[in-house]
Amino acid sequence: MKLIKRADWGAPATSGAGSIANTRGVKIHYMGSHYTSHAHSRCAGQVLAVRRSHMANTKENYADIAYNYVVCEHGYVFEGRGVNKRTGANGNAALNTAHYSVLALLGSSGMTEPTADMLNGIVDAVEHLRAHGNAGNEVLGHRDGHPTQCPGGPLYAWVSAGAQRPGVDQGDDKPSTPAPSTPADPYARGLPQVGKRSPSTVALQRELQRVGYMASSVKRDANYGPRTQDAVAAFHDANPQFKSAPGRRPQIGPLGWAFLRKMRKGAGSPAPSTPSTPTVNLSRLIAAARRDPGLPQGGTTHAADVRVVERALAAEGLLNSRWASDGSFGSMSVAAYAAWQRRCGYTGRDADGIPGAASLRKLGVKHGFRVG
Ligand SMILES: [Zn+2]
Ligand SMILES: [Zn+2]
Repeated sequence: MKLIKRADWGAPATSGAGSIANTRGVKIHYMGSHYTSHAHSRCAGQVLAVRRSHMANTKENYADIAYNYVVCEHGYVFEGRGVNKRTGANGNAALNTAHYSVLALLGSSGMTEPTADMLNGIVDAVEHLRAHGNAGNEVLGHRDGHPTQCPGGPLYAWVSAGAQRPGVDQGDDKPSTPAPSTPADPYARGLPQVGKRSPSTVALQRELQRVGYMASSVKRDANYGPRTQDAVAAFHDANPQFKSAPGRRPQIGPLGWAFLRKMRKGAGSPAPSTPSTPTVNLSRLIAAARRDPGLPQGGTTHAADVRVVERALAAEGLLNSRWASDGSFGSMSVAAYAAWQRRCGYTGRDADGIPGAASLRKLGVKHGFRVG
């Protein structure tokens, strides 16, 4: 982790914020204002400006910068309140007690797409909070549980897809040197680049074929040529949250790449086949979706129905496999189901993560269960 301690970005060495022993996890935030990409030499000044604006906010009466950590586009993790300090960023006292907070220096306009370095920095901060601050496993967005757009569409898509490391080597210009003795992970070799040759392009084509955006008859090769670009454009049309930048549709971005990698992991552990088609009861599922998020971690209401839906959401790449069979329709499952509803074209309150008949039937047709 590229940690920058408080004293090194201009804050007092220790935070005056109140203490906390543990949390259920971490919530992710963005700036929610215009933000432009800049050299790392200016990042400390940005963090300082955030702290100054919080200290000047007499309504909230902040004791310190509200966030536990702040991550810049270059992947550096600035120590905010730090570990075992209650955040002031999540919306109210109960929300601030339930989760820590990590701010991404990302805008609602200007620079709105997280870099791969930034995603890695966020995971660094989350892992640090787990290792040293007793943070639980949940990684959620500010908007989970609070009416806000934060942390913005692109970053929230990554959070709902499981907040995984993109596994992207940003040094795209360096030739990759695969070690012949080990079965190298093609995903670790960097982002495939339009018009360039790279072994990772073959992996990209394989995943695009698997999820149906490239005809399986196309012979895979290392060249990111027109057919790969067409397939990536189709993937982006269906999943616009993964477009890396306006006008660059055929270039796979770090978020889309992370999503496809997750799909691959999901495919590696298929659910055990069942002799008959399972049936999910809609009213039991709704009851679980309303009750489980308020229960202690892992609490269940209708575990059998929920498990079928969790497996389907995991197969869609919307729910981390860690939560895919616990039978608890907790806040991760609600967030994943909301992402499924958005994928079905619903918005606003129609995509609140509480299952409805139409979206559930659609999920069932795709993943082999009946709705009863
Ligand atoms: Zn926020
Ligand atoms: Zn920076």
